[in-house]
Amino acid sequence: MTDTTTDDTTRDDVDALRERVEALFPALQADLEDLVRVPSVSAAAFDQAHVEASAEAVAALLRDAGLPEVQILRSARPDGTPGAPAVVARRPAPAGAPAVLLYAHHDVQPPGEGWTTDPFQPVQVGERLYGRGAADDKAGIAAHVGALRALGGLAAAGDETPVGVTVFVEGEEESGSPSFHQFLTDHRELLRADVIVVADSTNWKVGTPALTTSLRGLVDGVVEVEVLEHAGHSGMFGGPVLDANVQLARLLATLHDEAGNVAVEGLAVAPEPEVDYDEAQFRADATVLDGLALAGEGTIAGRLWTKPALSVIGIDAVSVAHASNTIAPRSRAKLSLRLAPGQDPAAADRALADHLAAHAPAGARVTWTRWEAGKPFLAPGDTAAMRAARAAFTAAWGTEPVDIGVGGSIPFIADLLEVFPDAAILVTGVEDPDSRAHGADESVHLGELRKVVLAEALLLRRVAEGL
Ligand SMILES: [Zn+2]
Repeated sequence: MTDTTTDDTTRDDVDALRERVEALFPALQADLEDLVRVPSVSAAAFDQAHVEASAEAVAALLRDAGLPEVQILRSARPDGTPGAPAVVARRPAPAGAPAVLLYAHHDVQPPGEGWTTDPFQPVQVGERLYGRGAADDKAGIAAHVGALRALGGLAAAGDETPVGVTVFVEGEEESGSPSFHQFLTDHRELLRADVIVVADSTNWKVGTPALTTSLRGLVDGVVEVEVLEHAGHSGMFGGPVLDANVQLARLLATLHDEAGNVAVEGLAVAPEPEVDYDEAQFRADATVLDGLALAGEGTIAGRLWTKPALSVIGIDAVSVAHASNTIAPRSRAKLSLRLAPGQDPAAADRALADHLAAHAPAGARVTWTRWEAGKPFLAPGDTAAMRAARAAFTAAWGTEPVDIGVGGSIPFIADLLEVFPDAAILVTGVEDPDSRAHGADESVHLGELRKVVLAEALLLRRVAEGL
């Protein structure tokens, strides 16, 4: 009987909170749309005034959500320049109560090409809200704000949810979080928490929540191939010497084997994941063209989450419009190497550099310059915080969550683990496979966002009750 009473109480509790989320959602969606209208692209080539404006907008939302201490802060990047503005909003923990850090980022990727509608004019179609940042990661901000509103702001003394909350909304995640480590060091006491919720990942699919328990790391950089001191006439000199574009193409072709596996020797591979990604679903989600053979071997989830992947993400060569009959003296490409969980980025960088040097075509001059390096993430087994999160997901969705890996990288998680080694890190998110983060027509599923808000409010309550 006692158990039944507890279950009923819990169910009433969940239902009451769900009603509050329903009631507050239209205003929350309007706030999310306002955030999407601010083109807060953190890439250096874009106007950074918008990133400042979005920090101000986020600060206003968090103040309005009832957090008494709201600050816009920044730390220095490794090159000494100031980092992008981050918003830190706090309700300090009542005496003896646990503290939670809620992370999201307010900067976005550049809009890119191919949008059906204006990327910075949010548009709702059916259950989905379209716009750059609608999912990644302004929906993460909306999740935190919505959870706080559902809990009545948490501001009143003697309230029903005795938990300290710090919301930390970064402004340069899409540019590799260059000042993040310094920021954690500068504001360690402000950010210190027992549980850290990183709302910047994805759910398994619409209707099925997920905890992200592994992420791939990243090494990227530029490889340059040089064959001549300067451009030569392709009629006078062509034949005995192949141009740098061709030699670059030959070098790039060595990066994968015939089956499409990464051919760089010495890279780590982690064990196959427990769930798999259905191939037909993967083809649909990734919009793979009919007839294209998939690359690599093993399960789809393994190829995405626990093996390395290597992409050529940019090539500098003379454009077709400016082409002349000359032999290109040099050509370069930007490479992006995703690292399996457990891979040391420095070792991966060395392996890639060695591969490029060993495969220099025809003795061409090949130089590799590394740009970014980020560590992968592997969750430390099962923690009380993970169990609390799973219970909150189950209550919000009516479906048990699955553990997933993500092929992408959130390099700052390694920084969080380093600065707060005792904190439990939960990687959650609002995205689903159709969110197209970083792509054209990015969107968030509003039904899923409601559930994320409810789950986060439930999680905060569970943490307040003691894990
Ligand atoms: Zn993100």
